[in-house]
Amino acid sequence: MLSKKLFIPIFDKFTKDDIRGTAEDHRVWYMAELYDKKYRFKLQETINNATGKENYKEIYTDDLRKQVPDNFCLYPFTHFQLDPDGRARPCCKYKVGDASWQQDVPKLPDVNIEELWEQDEFQKLRSQFLNNERPSGCKACWDEEAAGIKSMRLQREDGGKQHPYATFYHHIPRLYPKTLDLKLSNLCNLKCRICTPFLSSQWIKEIKDLQVLDMGSVDSFTGNSKEKFSANPENKEILKKWAPTIDFLEFYGGEPLMQQEHDEILQVIYDYGNTANTGLYYNTNSTVLKEKFFELWKLFKEVIINFSVDDCGDRFEYQRKNAKWEESLHNMRMFREYGKKHGVKLDLRIYVTVGILNVFYLKEFLQEIENLEIKVTLNMVHYPHHYAITILPDKIKDIVRDKLLTIDTNIVRHDSLKIDNIIKFMYNTKHDPQLLETFWTKTKIHDTYRNESFEQTFFEFYNLLRDYK
Ligand code: SF4
Repeated sequence: MLSKKLFIPIFDKFTKDDIRGTAEDHRVWYMAELYDKKYRFKLQETINNATGKENYKEIYTDDLRKQVPDNFCLYPFTHFQLDPDGRARPCCKYKVGDASWQQDVPKLPDVNIEELWEQDEFQKLRSQFLNNERPSGCKACWDEEAAGIKSMRLQREDGGKQHPYATFYHHIPRLYPKTLDLKLSNLCNLKCRICTPFLSSQWIKEIKDLQVLDMGSVDSFTGNSKEKFSANPENKEILKKWAPTIDFLEFYGGEPLMQQEHDEILQVIYDYGNTANTGLYYNTNSTVLKEKFFELWKLFKEVIINFSVDDCGDRFEYQRKNAKWEESLHNMRMFREYGKKHGVKLDLRIYVTVGILNVFYLKEFLQEIENLEIKVTLNMVHYPHHYAITILPDKIKDIVRDKLLTIDTNIVRHDSLKIDNIIKFMYNTKHDPQLLETFWTKTKIHDTYRNESFEQTFFEFYNLLRDYK
């Protein structure tokens, strides 16, 4: 099994003085030997094959690219995601919806973030990718790829093939992650239908009152509301070490702009990192607007803001309970104004998560927001499974497809999912009557509790779907 720690003494041994060529040359040769022996790569051959040839760079890069395993993913080598319950994952799609995994893994604050980064689960995953395996915990990516979608794995440097030299000699042996996704707690002011109490504190009371048992334990969700990063003082020291080489710091939530530790962590990165080389990335629910953040943000390389907004008007307010459409619209405009005022390099996006509740209205929504002139990123609901568009009956899928095909997609970001991908994804998994039944049951329970009505709010779609009740 590959341990990042094992690589470190090997690197440290070699300096310019004790070898011919540069320290980097020797480091690479030594690593190539190590990879070849341990994982049956042919990296030494790629060096020998290119040496002395006129166009050695092209030959070397091509050969090296072929050595990157086809199923390889850079995430476990470069990315660190902290969940609100103190666990870590290599990315947000890993083991998504697998409740069993919450049990037996190390968590903050019992361990520190370095121990989480080196934990067995990560080591095993790294080893699996180096052996060209397809780990079962990565099902979300395999499913998307089967539907022709550029999965999260492929979005990161084409699964390591885009820059093969960096993959083998910089990313795989990196000591620290280069991107951090910090879900510091589930503190949130909304309780969106597609969310769960794992990521929203607002959901906790509702599942307690309704005695919903299939979403996990109420106690653990209450624990998620407590921010844990600072509870282990070692974390701040480790973050100081990681800070200079962090490219991107991502905050999702709960609602990240409500979290106290967010401000403290930015301060550490500012004090010990290199903000001119570090970008910030947020998924915010669009309801929190505080000018003080723009003062901090202007110090960073760039700030990407994804507004989690997937519909408009009443439908938006139904899907994202407690949010108000007019207020969200106003805030999205104000983000741009404050960005200009404070000189922040802002990249605003509307992050549309496409599920059963909004797929039929995507066209109307895109038309409604066109004058905001904010590019849209499309993304799929995988979990909760009963909100995924794959569960729709075939006849409804056909109607949805026909409507989707009339969308003018100029407003969609060039690197986002395309409408074709959504359609393929929808048809790629067979209609599941059981999950559709769960959809109806859940919808009714929460409608009654919230005094809302799927039937009235989504009138046209309800009329199509009611035959399958
Ligand atoms: S293959 Fe997909 S799910 Fe697995 S670690 Fe990579 S990005 Fe995450």
